[in-house]
Amino acid sequence: MEVYVLRLGHRPDRDKRISTHVALTARALGAKGIYFSCFDVGVFDSVRDVVSRWGGDFFIEEVNWRKLLMGFDGIKVHLTMYGIPLPEKLDEIKKAEKLLVVVGAEKVPAEIYELCDYNISIGNQPHSEVAALAIFLDRILDKTFDIKFEDAKLEIVPSERRKVVRELKEEKAYDDL
Ligand code: SAM
Repeated sequence: MEVYVLRLGHRPDRDKRISTHVALTARALGAKGIYFSCFDVGVFDSVRDVVSRWGGDFFIEEVNWRKLLMGFDGIKVHLTMYGIPLPEKLDEIKKAEKLLVVVGAEKVPAEIYELCDYNISIGNQPHSEVAALAIFLDRILDKTFDIKFEDAKLEIVPSERRKVVRELKEEKAYDDL
């Protein structure tokens, strides 16, 4: 299944850190890319910097959210504390081949509830878009602990007590030996 994320309502003056975490969580847990309803050079640059060092082809892109939602050729899921608990719809949603997950920052426009196919809660208490997205992706894709990123320059070697980071050298192939 291909999963994309739409970050709605990012406010550059106050959401830089959490929006960066939304994007990095999306990447780390298996989404293909993230769309922002607003451009923020700081957020976009730091996410692209992570991709260039830690690998993969995750993208971050500014879009018109209404056009994206109206034209998306897959299933659209809005995460909200007011929605239906994920376990009640998990099997249905897992049948999708292509999914767009919408997470808000401030209150989302009412029309989002209509434009999306599902309004889904991760527990019916207020918490965070990072937590909601992480639990959703883990339950839907179930590959949090198995993801590998192509062309990484850095890789962590899991360790009980130390910080071990391996620098991967670029390998070049020469055909004219
Ligand atoms: N009133 C908002 C709502 O509809 O959930 C809370 C705003 S919260 C700071 C920002 C985003 O976190 C929300 O737009 C939603 O995507 C996500 N979120 C927060 N709590 C959630 C929950 N219990 N279930 C699903 N998503 C949640």
